[in-house]
Amino acid sequence: MPAFSRLVRFLAKNGKVYYGDAILPQGVTDLAKTKAARVIKGDIFGKHEVTDAVEDVRLLLAPLAPEDVRTVRCLGLNYALHAQEAGLPLPKYPVLFFKPATSLSGPTDPIPVHPIAQEELGLDYECELVVVIGKTARDVPESEALNYVLGYAIGNDVSHRDWQVARGGGQWSLGKGFDGWAPYGPGIVTTEVIKDPQTLQISTRLNGQTVQSSNTADQIFSVKKTIAFLSRGHTLLPGDLIWTGTPSGVGMGRNPKLWMKDGDVVEVELEGVGIVTNKVEFLKEGARL
Ligand code: MG
Repeated sequence: MPAFSRLVRFLAKNGKVYYGDAILPQGVTDLAKTKAARVIKGDIFGKHEVTDAVEDVRLLLAPLAPEDVRTVRCLGLNYALHAQEAGLPLPKYPVLFFKPATSLSGPTDPIPVHPIAQEELGLDYECELVVVIGKTARDVPESEALNYVLGYAIGNDVSHRDWQVARGGGQWSLGKGFDGWAPYGPGIVTTEVIKDPQTLQISTRLNGQTVQSSNTADQIFSVKKTIAFLSRGHTLLPGDLIWTGTPSGVGMGRNPKLWMKDGDVVEVELEGVGIVTNKVEFLKEGARL
């Protein structure tokens, strides 16, 4: 059991990067509002302590350090209305794909769009409940599955529909795996705080307008079911992320279609966790991140 309840990773005002247990004012749950945190020492997945040292937050970073992330698994079509808007049948088994670790980014980082993903319209948003695995799990029964979860974050599974489908070779990873196309955070709220992950409001706003609004209660495969299924014959490791699919309202499913463009601001929000806010930034040819 972790000693922290709201994990953030941040650049402090002193210029150093820390893991911390967020200090939030009474009644505030949005981790994006974290101004200070108690510094955590040790291994967040193992032996650690929350110290009395408090540091001021200059910038919240992706909640896991790159070296602490293992695999990024994602589910597709995990909300019935979203499967319907995509014109695809309800899946009998969870639809699994992977995003590269290099797609992960922080809760306020720009979403960089490479020139090859600018040439056709198709840039889309997907708000998703992100599960962070905290303990090695293999062949875990549904009834025990949540014991292997460290906590939950909110993420945006940024997607380019043309590269995902028509030019993706039958695999989704290319059109969803560009650098920086998996911003998540603002931190990780543990299972001590969020006891039931199937009761949370989840939404997206594009330039301030609500475009997705649902509840994790509508997931086809619950977090428990997903972990039980994915751990059958597959070892889940501490630091694995499972993105659990997006509800309806994506740009692809609209009439007319709604694609993100340069300069757009997209926010994804999960009740009890907070808001991740990113600006779309079209890169020039040859630009380096
Ligand atoms: Mg998705």
